This record gives sequence, C-alpha cells and structure tokens, in this order.
Amino acid sequence: MTTTARFGSEPRSRSADQQTGGRRTCTTPAPGAPAPRAGGHPTRSSVLFAALFTATMVVGRHTVPEGGALALVSPCAGVAAVWFNAPRSVAGRALDATLLVVPGVLVHLATGATPLLAVAATLATLVQTLLFTALLRRWCPGAGPGQPLRGVLQLARLLTACGIAVSVGGVLAASAAAWETDRTGWVDLLTWVARNGLAVLLVGCAGLRLVTAGTRRPRTAEALLAFAVSGAAYTAQFALLGSLPVTFLLPVLTVWVALRLRSRTVVLHCLFTGACAVVFTLHGHGPFAAVADHTARALLVQGHAAVAAVIGLVLALGRDERDALLAEVRHQAADAQRQAESAELLTGALRSLNAAADTREALCEATARITGADGVYLAEPDGRGALVSRAAWGEGMVPVSIPVSEPTVLAEAFRRGEPLFVSDLTGHTGASARLRDALGVVSVAYQPVTTADGQTAGLLASVWRTRVAELPAQVRVVLATLAQEAAHGMERADLLAQLAVAAERDPLTGLANRRRWDEATTKEIARAVRSGLPLSFCLIDLDHFKRYNDTQGHLAGDDLLQEFATAASGCLREVDTLARWGGEEFVLALPGCSTAGARAVADRIRAAVPRGQTCTIGVAQWRPGLSAAEVVALADLALYEGKAAGRNTTVVSDASPAPTPVP
Ligand code: GH3
Ligand code: MG
Ligand code: MG
Repeated sequence: MTTTARFGSEPRSRSADQQTGGRRTCTTPAPGAPAPRAGGHPTRSSVLFAALFTATMVVGRHTVPEGGALALVSPCAGVAAVWFNAPRSVAGRALDATLLVVPGVLVHLATGATPLLAVAATLATLVQTLLFTALLRRWCPGAGPGQPLRGVLQLARLLTACGIAVSVGGVLAASAAAWETDRTGWVDLLTWVARNGLAVLLVGCAGLRLVTAGTRRPRTAEALLAFAVSGAAYTAQFALLGSLPVTFLLPVLTVWVALRLRSRTVVLHCLFTGACAVVFTLHGHGPFAAVADHTARALLVQGHAAVAAVIGLVLALGRDERDALLAEVRHQAADAQRQAESAELLTGALRSLNAAADTREALCEATARITGADGVYLAEPDGRGALVSRAAWGEGMVPVSIPVSEPTVLAEAFRRGEPLFVSDLTGHTGASARLRDALGVVSVAYQPVTTADGQTAGLLASVWRTRVAELPAQVRVVLATLAQEAAHGMERADLLAQLAVAAERDPLTGLANRRRWDEATTKEIARAVRSGLPLSFCLIDLDHFKRYNDTQGHLAGDDLLQEFATAASGCLREVDTLARWGGEEFVLALPGCSTAGARAVADRIRAAVPRGQTCTIGVAQWRPGLSAAEVVALADLALYEGKAAGRNTTVVSDASPAPTPVP
C-alpha cells in the first residue's frame, strides 16, 4: 500500500489515538450532524420495541397482588425508556406513543385492571417515559443511545431525571389506584417509584449503553467468580437464611464488582442481583417476605436493589472518571517529555549547524539524527532546471540530479514548497527511479528549506531503506524549524564564501590578487625549503598595452586582459599560481621549476597572448634566504632588460643560477 501524506494536513491517525492511551472523548454531536440511529428501520424497531414492551408488561402484570391494583415489578418501564430514547421524527414518535398506549391499555384490561386504571397507568408510563427522555437530553447533553455518561455528575443528573419522571408517573398511577381501591395511595406511589426507578435505571443504562467498558481489563475469571458468589450469597440469604436478615451485607458484593470490574459488568451484576432479590421476595422467600403487605414487600426489595445499583454505578463511574483523568495526565506528561526531547534535539542540531565549517553537510547529519533516516540529501536548484544534491549524509548516498519538470514526488515537494512524506515508494508512480531502484529507498520525507522571503532554496530528503509507517509529529516540527534555520545558515555560508572569493580574487580577470599571491608564495617558499625543490617566479608585462588601449579603447583593453588571463592559465599546472600584479602586469609562481623549466613555460605563455599582442617576461629563481618580494624584484630587473632589448622576449635573471639548495 502506498501512503503519501503532507505533514500537518493528514487526518488524525490511528497511532495518534493510540498515543492518547486509548482515551475516549465523548462529544456532543455537532449541530446539524445526523443524529445517531438506534439501528434498523424506525418503524420496524418501533414494532419490535412494542412487542418487547408488551411482553415485559405481561410479566409485570402477573405480579399484581391480591386486592391490589398495580404490579409489583415493572421491567416494561425500562424497555420504554430505551425505546423512547431512540431518535425519531415527530410522526415516528406519535407512532411509538400509539404502540405503547394501545397494548398497554389492552394488557391492563386483560389482566384484570379497571378501564380507568388501565388508561391511567398506561398514560402514567407514557408521561414518565417522555419526561425522562426530555430531561436526559437536557441535563446530560451528549449522553444517549451508545453515548456513555461522562462521570459522576452526569450520573447524578440521570438519577434526578429518573427520580422526577417516575415520581410524576407514580402520582398519576397511584391516584387512579387509590380511586379504584380502598388502599391509601402512599404505598402504591412509593412502590411505583421504586420499581419503575430501578427498571429505568438498570434497563436504561444497559439498553442505552450509557456505561462503557472503560479502559479496564475484562478480568473474565473474576467476573464469573463474582456472579457465582453473588448468586450463592443471594440464594443463601433469600432461600435458606430468610429468618436471619443479613441483607445489609449483600451490597459488599456490589462494591467488590464496582471497584474491580468493568462498569458494564457492574450494571449486569446489579441487574442479576436485583432480579434474584425480587424473584425470591415475590415468591415469598427471604427477609422482605416477613412483611405481610405484598406491595410494601415489593417496595422494600426494589428499594434495596436500587440503593445497591446507585452505589455500584457511583463507584464504577467515579473510578472510570479517575482512570480517564489519569490517562489524560499521563498523556500530557508524555507530551511534555516529547517536547523537551524535541527542544533538546533542535538545540543540539542548531549548535552543530552554527559550529560547522560546512553548513550543508552539518544540516544533513543533523537531519539524519532527528529523523533516524538511513541517508539524507540536500538538493538545491542548479539554475538549469534540475535539483542537484549539494550535500549528503549516509552510506552509499551517491550524488543525484533530478529535473524539476519531471513528475516525481521530489520535484512536486519542491514546486509546492510543502513537506511531504511517502511511506512506501514501491509502485509509487511519482518515485524517482534513481532513489527507489539504485539506492533501494523505500520511505522518504521531504522538507523544503525556505528562505525568509518565502523562496524554496532547497529540499532536505530523508530516506529509509526499510519502510517507515509515519513520521512522528514532533519530528516534523523539529525538522521544519531546523530547515528554517538552515536556510539562514546556508545564505550566510554562501555569502561568506562569496566574500572569501572576492577578498582573494582580482575582479576583472578572476585571477588571484596580491593578497592571495602573498599567502601562496609564503607557502611555496616554505615548501621549497622543506622539499629542496626549485621554485621560479615570472613577471609578465603586456607590450605596448597603452597603445592598444589608445587605439582599441579601454574596454577592448579590459577584454584583452581577461583573455590573456584565461590563455595564460591554460598553459599552467594546478600547482602554479598566476596573479594580477597590477595594470597589465602579472606574476607567476612555478613550484618545482628551475629557470630552464620556467623559461619554457614563459615562452608558452608568450605564444598564447591573444589578439596578436605580445608580452615580455622576466624570470628569476628563488634561492634560500630570499623573500618572495626579492625574487619578484629580480624578475622585474630581467623584465626591464627584455623591454630594453625590444620586448616580446623571455629574460632569465642572471642572479638566478643559484647553487642547488641543500635539503
Ligand atoms: P610597455 O610595452 O613598455 O610595457 O608599454 P606599455 O604601454 O604596456 O606600458 P605603460 O606602463 O606605459 O602603460 C600601461 C597601460 O596599461 C597604462 C594603463 O592605462 C593601462 N592599464 C592599466 N590597468 C588597466 C586596466 O585595468 N584596463 C585597461 N584597459 N588598461 C589598463
Ligand atoms: Mg607595465
Ligand atoms: Mg606593458
């Protein structure tokens, strides 16, 4: 697979998520964003929910006690809470309401409720569900189907919403029940609140997935053990030790699960233990069965289960919140650590850049240290439409030259002046064949070097021979800063180099000037002293140059001087030094040449004078004890003799036949 990414513009990567330690951020959906759907076709899911609601209501209605009006358990209240929290259009919601009311009334009537109670209890369930949904949306924005609660504060809001909704529903239903029976309404009201509150809280949390697994490990074995122990403990308390009321010890099991296991497991555990307690109690077992009134008995057991559920959820969500905060703190500490490392890396790189004799090579080496690349190139435009490597670091990094007009990734990065990372050049259409095939490069990162005025001065190419999935963000930042600084450094280095050249060169002919001559001859004399080899100087003067100037013009005179410099240089070896002495006079140092050899070179130069002009040359050989200026003076005397003798000749100083120096 080929991945090309522009630094800074790619979407948040998977590994970036991994860097956050797997934290999940729950955000409110953006305004206008489509609401998450409960899944499936809305009408179909309404029918399914209605069927489930009806089934759970039938189960609940079988627990209506003798002489009572209301059921003792109400799992259908939880089903309705999940059902009505699914996003729906107004028409869809009206359909849901109808599908809740019609079967609700019918089931009530079929299970012995009076018409008034059937309508009142069903409407109470509807009102309660709508109110809970509205309050949940208002108080827990962002929480909903599949969007978990964020911490204990949201849990407190959920509990309040649940409490208000079931109380309103309870008042409606209990009033109708009180009207129909002789019973006082208080017990019915509290039972409604306990049974519906428990159902909405637990079935709602489970069905709406309001509680996540969190970041904890599953600990499956411990979870199974907790469920087994809880099953045994509830059976022991409710079926075997009913007369010994130690129910207050049972929440210890909830605390165990809430402190150790995933929050989702806590909800399941509360559902399981709550169901155990309720089923045993309704069948006349356990400590609550001692209460004679069925409704009060149901109120107590469901109150017990609700308290355990609240304890479990508060502990679990509080712990999840703490885990998330810890992960965030760890993430920020890691960030700070990375930034400190980046700063250190950058400081080191800049220091080596400033101290380096060759900025470009130092830049390549610093880049390799930052990116960890196998090799680094610094490619710069050569002024003739190609990008040419001016410096490189790494084994086997042979010089490259790539035309800017070619459709390569490198040329594209240069043209755009933007950083570019290619994870895999294999099969990449824009890969330079040279880089990929000849150098075996697999991954490459290009970082433009941009000058202060925004011009792309070059391109830093970090190359890897094994695939690199991505370039970490902090590496990109350090690289960009380094490249920016490097642009200044390169400009400075170029300017210094130009100045150094200008300081040693004659501007008209490009030959060495007097300053360079002095340095060169000092070295040559020292070398002659060491080696014992001969060293000769020549003083060259163009003949009748004034006349040439006068007849051809000063500019033509300049041209002649330039052409002569080129022609004379062509007669020399690498080791010879030709300098402009001043005006139309030149001076020449010939290491390893005796007067005979120097005369031959001088004659060659005379023969090379362009434009049909001539010159006279005086030759003198250095001998130990003489300074460069003294040898030039001897050559000058010889030159004077040559001029006097009619010009266009080579004269060797007769002071020259020196005794052979003893090494
Ligand atoms: P001789 O053969 O005796 O050396 O005669 P000459 O005319 O070459 O020597 P002279 O010293 O009389 O004249 C040198 C001339 O070179 C005078 C000066 O105007 C000219 N000259 C010196 N520097 C430059 C230069 O940079 N460009 C040009 N075009 N002429 C220069
Ligand atoms: Mg002269
Ligand atoms: Mg002259």
